[in-house]
Amino acid sequence: MEAKPAYPNVVLTVGQSPLRPTRDDVKYFTFGQNNSGGGFHVTDDYGEYVIIAAVDVDDANERAKKLGLYFDGVDSGQDCECCGDRWSPVWREKGADSPLVYDEVKPEAYLGGSYSSLRTTIVVHHADGSRDTYKKIET
Ligand SMILES: [Zn+2]
Repeated sequence: MEAKPAYPNVVLTVGQSPLRPTRDDVKYFTFGQNNSGGGFHVTDDYGEYVIIAAVDVDDANERAKKLGLYFDGVDSGQDCECCGDRWSPVWREKGADSPLVYDEVKPEAYLGGSYSSLRTTIVVHHADGSRDTYKKIET
């Protein structure tokens, strides 16, 4: 008999990150997307959240840029002035030992719970170069 999954409305797909593997003693840094202009951008490499294994905040921000995140959205005219920048760099975060949203919620619990109905995708980039994509599905 199979165990019932805790979050049957969340599907995990494992793939290859475009980021190069890094040290295995890294931490996870979480970037949350602002829906500037009224919509989120979702690609293979990031969702409404992207969680990146990195050595420190500077490394995390650099790795984020390689995935297509940008931190100057309003200044460069890409993002809506009143809504603000789509992405912000991590700054003083220490990072977490495992991928988390809001420093405490696992990706599958975030999507499978009642935190946000607008957010459907969380992508995690691990130190070994693998990529986990969590997607909320209709059930
Ligand atoms: Zn706006």
